[in-house]
Amino acid sequence: MTIDLLIKNGAVITMNDKREVIEHGDVAIQKGEIIAVGRNLEYEALKTIDAGGKVVAPGFINGHSHVYQSLIEGIGYDMHFDPWNWRFLFPVVSKITPEDAQASAALAALELIKNGVTTISDHWYLHTHMENIYRVTEVFDQAGLRAQMVFGLLDQTFAGERIDSEYMTMIQKEETLVNEARRYHQAWHNCNRTTIALGPGSTEDISESLMRKTVELARELDVNVSTHVAGWIEINSYTMKRFGERDLEHFHSLGLTGPKGVMFHAVWLSDREIEIMANTGTKVVHCPVANAYLGYGIAPISHMLSRGIAVGLGTDGAASYTYDMLEVGRAAAMLQKASKLDAEAVTAEEVMEMLTINGAKVLGLDQQTGSIEIGKKADLIVLDFNAPHLLPVGRWLPKLIYSARGSDVIHTVVEGKLLMEDRKVLTLSEEEVIAQALASREGLVERAGQETRDLLAMPWPKSGPAWRSIV
Ligand SMILES: [Zn+2]
Repeated sequence: MTIDLLIKNGAVITMNDKREVIEHGDVAIQKGEIIAVGRNLEYEALKTIDAGGKVVAPGFINGHSHVYQSLIEGIGYDMHFDPWNWRFLFPVVSKITPEDAQASAALAALELIKNGVTTISDHWYLHTHMENIYRVTEVFDQAGLRAQMVFGLLDQTFAGERIDSEYMTMIQKEETLVNEARRYHQAWHNCNRTTIALGPGSTEDISESLMRKTVELARELDVNVSTHVAGWIEINSYTMKRFGERDLEHFHSLGLTGPKGVMFHAVWLSDREIEIMANTGTKVVHCPVANAYLGYGIAPISHMLSRGIAVGLGTDGAASYTYDMLEVGRAAAMLQKASKLDAEAVTAEEVMEMLTINGAKVLGLDQQTGSIEIGKKADLIVLDFNAPHLLPVGRWLPKLIYSARGSDVIHTVVEGKLLMEDRKVLTLSEEEVIAQALASREGLVERAGQETRDLLAMPWPKSGPAWRSIV
């Protein structure tokens, strides 16, 4: 039998139930699926990859992003969420066109593939044009990624009360959003490698009425409801004042908790709220770098893991400054260890679970992806360990987690197809994507107006850019 792809002689970190690591292992792939894993597999293959001295691992899963923000990294930085949003982010992103949306997704897709990410879940609420999310989804599809696209629903505001602001171009009426969510679901759910979820922004962003309709629609369509919960401390005060409950408690009352409830950030939770999540099978996407960078705090991940809650990892938006999930995973471990004064608070094995099989569980995709096992889709990566920072190896998994970088990934495979081979991305033109992204960024800053351009051009004294003291 001649198969499509055979990967030979690698250290295969399977992430199967036994968490086997097979030294000098082979992986056989046919029609996008893994058909055999083991030593000395005897197959003829159309293509064979020699993985000697290399690690073969399940592709990484980025469980939460806002890829439109890939165009605004470095515009305003080292600032709290609010001034950053109002002074820098909104004037720029409120002008996004479908072409910009496409350019942002292509840039993100390029970086994701180059960092060994095979599944991306993007929360897209930037409906300045309803076509935006379609352009983004098409880019991910054509790039060959697996995607869970979260259709964002915001009918009140985003990060504040200023509904009348000219920048709130992403806010749409309830009826429009519900109809558009249905249309988008019909177009893309279970199409190729894409699934759809519904994504209320936060308790602040969405009216009670739309929140209830979103929960109803998610039940009807049998899809995940994915939302920002208790990420920043102020949101708990807002929800408490408005509804007399903490953030997660309120989502629980509304029916968003349960196996199809996916909570982003989940930093400021009470012990009772963690119990609610554990008892209802609610999932979490932890964004340690964004949470740290924005001064949100450190989510109680080791507590959640000890209660059996499925936790995945995400980058969130521009605040992570990277799609390198190894960097994100390492931050997750370090922050727990340091804050708990406990070197075992989160282990390398737990980080790898969050990056792969548990990330897949969070998205409800663990029957398809997240481990190297017979019957699963062949979503996997090969990392070259013939490098000074990766030798001597000792144990493969902790060395991968603590020393490897996204740039050590040399091949990225999704559903048996090589998206990157020897660091060259095959499904996107790197030069064209970068040129388009730079042009989009320039156009957005231009259209954002004089105030934004003045802010960005301000002098840079010793203490940092001058705007930091005036925002
Ligand atoms: Zn987010």
